[in-house]
Amino acid sequence: MSAAPRVVVLAGGVGGSRFVLGVRAALRARGLADTAASLTVVVNTGDDLWLSGVRLQPDVDSITYALAGVNDAERGWGRRDDSERVNRELQEWGAGWPWFTLGDLDLGTHLARTGWLREGLTPTQVLERMSHRWDLGARLLPMTDAEADTVVVLGDGTRLHFQEWWTRHRATLAPARFENPGIDAAAPAPGVTGAIAAADVVLLAPSNPVVSIGPILAVPGMREAVRATAAPVVGVSPIIGGKVVRGMADVCLTAIGVETSAAAVAGLYGARSAGGLLDAWLLAEEDAALADDVAGRGIRPLVRPLWMTDAAGQAALGDAALVAAGI
Ligand code: GDP
Ligand code: CA
Repeated sequence: MSAAPRVVVLAGGVGGSRFVLGVRAALRARGLADTAASLTVVVNTGDDLWLSGVRLQPDVDSITYALAGVNDAERGWGRRDDSERVNRELQEWGAGWPWFTLGDLDLGTHLARTGWLREGLTPTQVLERMSHRWDLGARLLPMTDAEADTVVVLGDGTRLHFQEWWTRHRATLAPARFENPGIDAAAPAPGVTGAIAAADVVLLAPSNPVVSIGPILAVPGMREAVRATAAPVVGVSPIIGGKVVRGMADVCLTAIGVETSAAAVAGLYGARSAGGLLDAWLLAEEDAALADDVAGRGIRPLVRPLWMTDAAGQAALGDAALVAAGI
């Protein structure tokens, strides 16, 4: 390809960051040295929250740390070799949430971010500034500059911040629905719809369809932008062999009445030809029997290995997603 391809990925945290690492590797394998000009990641900010006076952006940080190579890959969140001195002190004060750990280095990130927000920078501007510290090889954009933190509503009407439901209760309290208060008045962050319109491919990462990709698509104008792009839209299944690989996405899917299957998630996003978003859907070899089901929904099925457990698997999946778009 003569001009550098323009790739946009919609992504959540852990699954999202592994996939973005793979796409970056696949772009580098195509001889692109400066992938930052090619790769734009639109990140879920539904997980964000205020805690002990600082703004946390879990998915934004997961992707930033992973691209910088400073993430704790074992644990799946936060910085490698972090300590928890400040966290212990906060707990002695009875501040914050006793079941929510914040690493010292991570808190440095949150303090820097909060300071800049207080000075009047937008979340997009803060993320741009934070992206300069490391050579990320990608441009990161929050889905929106508005605060629209995900709330889990239980059957009895109890409302919990997503992080409390997920981290404290491990998704064991049956959700009736997920809401993002404020999202109806939100707009995609500056640069997001332009990047989608100018893309050569738009990729839906194998992230949680309900609480990671869901909030991104719930930003008014986002679906329309994805539907309108001339680029192919290619999604990757977060479900392998009928199971969530990691995390509790099955509980989220059940809550919105969607089966935990690669075909059902493809159906949730829908075919672009039928008012949905997808042109093609990568599903795992373990789910090859569902290819006809996906095709019947008007989406081109592509059966590929979907494991991202090591760098080679990530790069192979990134490559498969680009190849699906002719890149
Ligand atoms: P979170 O924001 O940290 O919860 O992460 P994401 O929403 O980005 O991704 C979580 C989803 O990634 C999980 O629901 C898994 O189904 C999916 N996932 C994790 N590892 C893999 C993998 O190796 N392959 C695939 N296809 N999906 C994965
Ligand atoms: Ca997340």
